[in-house]
Amino acid sequence: MLIEVADVSKAYPQQQASPAPAIENISFSIAAGEFVCILGPSGCGKSTLLNLIAGFIQPDRGRINFAGQPVLTPGPERGVVFQEATLFPWLNIRQNIELGLKAAGIPRARHQQIVADSLAQVDLNCSGEAYPHQLSGGMKQRVALARVLALKPRLLLMDEPFSALDAETREHLQDQLLQICANQQQTVLFVTHSVEEAAYLADRVIIMAQPPASLYSEVSIPRDQPRSRTAKELSMTILRLRTTLKELARFVPEHKETDY
Ligand code: ADP
Repeated sequence: MLIEVADVSKAYPQQQASPAPAIENISFSIAAGEFVCILGPSGCGKSTLLNLIAGFIQPDRGRINFAGQPVLTPGPERGVVFQEATLFPWLNIRQNIELGLKAAGIPRARHQQIVADSLAQVDLNCSGEAYPHQLSGGMKQRVALARVLALKPRLLLMDEPFSALDAETREHLQDQLLQICANQQQTVLFVTHSVEEAAYLADRVIIMAQPPASLYSEVSIPRDQPRSRTAKELSMTILRLRTTLKELARFVPEHKETDY
C-alpha cells in the first residue's frame, strides 16, 4: 500500500471551549495507481484528511504511513494541488515551475526539458514566458498541476482543484487528469463535494458524513469500461453515491438535509 491511514483523529482548538473534532477514527489505505476520491458535505473533514496526508498538520491520534514510512512533514513525493492555483504573480509560468525544481535540488541544466514536458502533459498551449495575470482560471490550474507533476510525485493530492472553474473547463481538466493517470499510472487522492465528479473520476470513493460523527463508507467503481459522461453506468454510480450519502446523513443527529 502506498498510503495507510490507521485510526486517525484530528481536533482543532476553539476559543473558550474544548477542541472540536474534525475527523475521528478514520482508517483506509490507497494502493499505487489508484484514483481515490474523498466525497462529503462541506465541513466534514475532507481537507483535514488531505492536509494530514500532505504532512501540513499532524494527527492527534492514529498514524499515517506513506510507502511504509510515517508522514511527519510535507514532501515532493506527495504533490498538492489546491482549489486556487496559488501561482506567484511576479513570476512567469516557467519561473513558477522552476521554483519547485530549485527547491527540490534538480540541476538547472534539466529545468528547460522538465518545464516543457510538464506543460505538454497538461496540454497548455501558451508560452512559458506568460505571467499568471495573462491566463484564464483553467490555464492557471493547468500550470499549478504542471508545477506539481514536474516533481514526479508518487501521490497527487488534489483539494477541490476544479471547483472554481466553469463547467466546460472543469470537464476538460477532469479528462486531462484521467489521461495523465492512464499514461503514467499516477496515484491520486482527490477531494470533492461533487457526486458527479467523484463518480466520473474515481476507482474508489470514500464518503464522509457531517462531523462530529466518525461515519464514513467506501464505494468501489468498476473501471472495466471506457468512461463516458452519458453512460448509464455513470448514472447508476451517481445514484449509489447519493444513496450512501443519505444513509450516512440519517445517522447524524440534527443533520440539516444537504442538497447534492
Ligand atoms: P471540508 O474540507 O470537508 O469542508 P475541513 O477539513 O476544512 O472540511 O473542516 C472540518 C472542520 O474543521 C470544520 O468544522 C472546520 O471549520 C474545522 N477546521 C478546519 N480547519 C480548521 C482550523 N485550521 N482551525 C479550526 N478549525 C478548523
